[in-house]
Amino acid sequence: MNDRLPPPRIRLAHPDVGDEEIEAVTRVLRTPVLTMGPETEAFESEVAAYHGTGHGVALANGTVALIALFDSLGIGRGDEVIVPSLTFVSTVTSLVYAGAKPVFADVDPETFCVDPAAVERLVGRHTKAILAVHYGGQPADLAELATIATENRIVLLEDAAEAHGATYRSRHIGTWGAAAMLSFTPTKNITTGEGGMILTDHEDLARRLRLVRNHGQTAPYEHSFLGCNWRITEMQAAMGRAQLAKLDAILARKRALAAELDGLVSAIDGVEAPMVRPDRDHTHMLYTVRLATDAPGRDTVAHEMALRGIETKVYFPPVHRQPLFARTPQGAAAEARLAVTNDLAGRILSLPIHSRLTSGELAEIAGALNESMRAGRAAGVVSRSL
Ligand SMILES: *Cc1c(COP(=O)(O)O)cnc(C)c1O
Repeated sequence: MNDRLPPPRIRLAHPDVGDEEIEAVTRVLRTPVLTMGPETEAFESEVAAYHGTGHGVALANGTVALIALFDSLGIGRGDEVIVPSLTFVSTVTSLVYAGAKPVFADVDPETFCVDPAAVERLVGRHTKAILAVHYGGQPADLAELATIATENRIVLLEDAAEAHGATYRSRHIGTWGAAAMLSFTPTKNITTGEGGMILTDHEDLARRLRLVRNHGQTAPYEHSFLGCNWRITEMQAAMGRAQLAKLDAILARKRALAAELDGLVSAIDGVEAPMVRPDRDHTHMLYTVRLATDAPGRDTVAHEMALRGIETKVYFPPVHRQPLFARTPQGAAAEARLAVTNDLAGRILSLPIHSRLTSGELAEIAGALNESMRAGRAAGVVSRSL
């Protein structure tokens, strides 16, 4: 696999940024207020209003937003939080930063979101919360998870980093648990370069988060508890407002592209298009296909795609297999327990999806995938997760 690869002609993601964002940032730069000002307040209330939550608290990025959230909820040492392993690493490392212990739960083989039955089995004496992840932009089973949380008197939290604007049973994500996190890194559907937000209906929690992100400062130079500098800039907030105004158009465009891609990839032997449950919508931050159990090796297929100039990625190598966790008791227990996650780890592949793709490029992606599957079969390597 040492062939020199061409730079990708079709990239996985591309931020949808234009004159509106440039003008918004420029507007801020002509004022003296570059942090914690009117743009941040407006960004927070506009994102919260969009999702139907009482409050939004913007932070420097999604990862520290989660750390601040756990801290504000008193989730820390001695507490367990149930999380999927098929997620970005910081869903879990943010918990570790807060001092809490992640307990890895298996996922649904079709939506790749955490499986409520698996979650229920793992609830124990030390469980404080369930942190559900809306994989790739499709909401997890929020009603079932909310019921489990209520019955066990634990908290449901949403890692909605990938799911801005998604709905579940006609209600937006962010309204189902005690709080939800959004991220605005450049691969997400809307971006501020870096940025994050916590959505919540709880006023006390929002107030606490605002203090934690600003050194626990309760009055000028009075620091009542431990906080940090996790503020967002006015430039980012202004950019975020311009992005939010485009969110519906971006989501509509991505849904249309995903529907078109579904038709193309489903026609390829051994490739399964993403599954979308009828009671929720998918915002397609990712477009992840699953290769059939008898398909060629996923890594071979990914390499063949790269040779054809199409960028693909594995979202995500399971967190419990990361060196950071693999040798811990939680990592070892997860390796033995997470049959679906371990199986998917060898079979999933995310294809390019972003609002600027054209139908011609979708056809190229599908054409390359078809050829890559054939090349893989010819090489005689059959996919198996190790
Ligand atoms: C992107 C992402 C994060 C991290 O957000 P940052 O803003 O990059 O810190 C956390 N969880 C999930 C599921 C993500 O996709």
